[in-house]
Amino acid sequence: MSEHGREKRDAAFKAAQVSVLLNAALMTMQITIGWLAYSDGLLADGVHTLTDLAADGMVLAVLRLSATAAHRSINGQDDRYETIGSLLISLLLIATGMETLWSSLAHMTTATNVAGASTVHASALVVAVFAIAAKEGLFRYIMSVAQRTRSTILVASAWHARSDAISALVAAAGILGSMAGVAISDRLAAAVIGVMIARMGFNLGWKTFKDSFGRTASEPAGH
Ligand SMILES: [Zn+2]
Repeated sequence: MSEHGREKRDAAFKAAQVSVLLNAALMTMQITIGWLAYSDGLLADGVHTLTDLAADGMVLAVLRLSATAAHRSINGQDDRYETIGSLLISLLLIATGMETLWSSLAHMTTATNVAGASTVHASALVVAVFAIAAKEGLFRYIMSVAQRTRSTILVASAWHARSDAISALVAAAGILGSMAGVAISDRLAAAVIGVMIARMGFNLGWKTFKDSFGRTASEPAGH
């Protein structure tokens, strides 16, 4: 591998590791405070961050496999590993989204949330707002590395961080609504987050499928 190639690979690894550290810290805060402050929305976003950690693990595995393949000079392997990794992440997101939606709908029919309370504590709002800022910062950082290293899996990972910021925004809105006296808004936020996670997974899976299988099919047409 060239000096330049090694440099790019190290930058990609570093970006994935930064994502792991940030998500681990965020998940701990979201689940702990989500539970203590009685927020279903923040809890749902915490579970979401847990799947983000799993996705990070897959990104790291794909980067490692790609690096090994490049080392062995096997052309075309990079794409194949990235495709499998992206498809696995998409399946994970779809499953988590459905689970989150399902459990929040189940809680919607009762007057209380998971922890058995009807109003959310303000500390949940602080964590949700922090999550918005952290995920938006992560999006910008990973995207800059993705463009520099031309890594498709890092581009996917960056867009994921951006939609995570929007998911945290939904959680914050739900918490605000609950604090204003509309208790169901927090549960509604959890349901919306579930749909968002599943939709993200579907879009990623579809895009990966089109990019890797559609491309070969349309090649004779001269694209
Ligand atoms: Zn996510």
